Amino acid sequence: MERADIVTLDKRHVWHPYTAMDEYIAKTDPLVVVRAEGPYLYDADGTRYLDANGSWWVSTLGHRHPRLVRALTEQAGSLPHTSLAGVTHEPAARLAQELVALAPGLSRVFYSDNGSTAVEVAIKMAAQYWAQNGRPRRTRFITLSGAFHGETIGATSVGGVEVFRDVFGPLLFDVVHVPSPAEPAGWEHAFARVEATLREHPDEIAAVILEPLIQGAAGMQMYAPAFVRAVREATRAVDTFLIADEVFTGMGRTGARFACDLAGVVPDLLCLAKALSGGLMPFAATLATERVFSGFGGGRERALYYGHSYCGNPLGAAVAREVLAVYRDEDVLGQVARKAPKVKAAFERMASTIPGVTRPRALGMVGAVDLGSGGYLASGGWRVYEAARRRGLYLRPMGDTVYIAPALNIPDAALDELLAGVEASLLAVASGRT
Ligand code: PMP
Repeated sequence: MERADIVTLDKRHVWHPYTAMDEYIAKTDPLVVVRAEGPYLYDADGTRYLDANGSWWVSTLGHRHPRLVRALTEQAGSLPHTSLAGVTHEPAARLAQELVALAPGLSRVFYSDNGSTAVEVAIKMAAQYWAQNGRPRRTRFITLSGAFHGETIGATSVGGVEVFRDVFGPLLFDVVHVPSPAEPAGWEHAFARVEATLREHPDEIAAVILEPLIQGAAGMQMYAPAFVRAVREATRAVDTFLIADEVFTGMGRTGARFACDLAGVVPDLLCLAKALSGGLMPFAATLATERVFSGFGGGRERALYYGHSYCGNPLGAAVAREVLAVYRDEDVLGQVARKAPKVKAAFERMASTIPGVTRPRALGMVGAVDLGSGGYLASGGWRVYEAARRRGLYLRPMGDTVYIAPALNIPDAALDELLAGVEASLLAVASGRT
């Protein structure tokens, strides 16, 4: 099919996520990706783009890693799908064993299919646990300003970015919002509010939910591990739960397997998706402690009545097992440790040398800067996006935040090309020569 025909059909029928469709239909010439390999996307017009964000933070092993493709096709040849209703299979069982071995303190794995559902599961587990284990008034969640936990109504309710939640306000359940630990007032200020809320309402709080160390969708807002540790201690003090949403930060993004490891914290519930299946299948897991799990025993009426058609899908589970094997065999965490200082130095240099570029920040394989303070709907980042596209980079911004979150195994030469391209694009916009 010709490139132009694909665009015509797309504009006639496809409704894109997070997109002002009238503007898109009138003005946007979308990338028409026909192939992807390693850190690159290939457009039907022959242009190669470096994928700065691993296609929404998913493709941490690059696109089309041969071992993942092989694991997927081999699994498809024997068992592509079965439900987990009175059924089990080796990929689900082995993956659960391998995941809990990487997450000491957690012993049970509930499968679903994306980051939002991994969070939805955790919310329901926490609420139901307290409902049937002697604390029925524990129905409220403490969540951080700037939090993003997904798109379902429950996950949106615990979110803290206005643009994603305000219009649904009447449909959302009530939560306690505390300031973000990434705000200039500091993590201690945010923590004081968490602690006070827990102390004043110990009977009402089902869990504190947070994205450890980086609030991704809020614009890569980073904060100190000490906050996560303090929250863990405070939740322990009143015996309530901590939910770690590591849909973005998990699987090595921050340099550790899980960001919770950097904080030295074991949560009660840990949400994983995105990189877990390396961009080959939608797949997610919510890991729980034995204590949470045991709160659902003792009769059918106490079971977790929750599930999705694709829970534990064998294709996703087989690919996720191979993802874990590739991380081990290719020392992906070691690769991040080696490359992270280069990312940090590059973003610091950009902020110190390019006018209007501020707040450099970096952790693991994430680097970000801001252009002004326009928030989510601001357009500064989009000018950089256009400049970057002309330079062969796919650099989707978040409002005024320009960031990279590339494949963790990005080859050194491609990383150099990416950092140089981001710098050149920022410079071009700053000097009005895009
Ligand atoms: N939690 C976090 C921390 C996320 O960053 C995201 C997605 N950006 C989600 C949940 C939702 O994941 P999904 O888009 O796979 O539903």
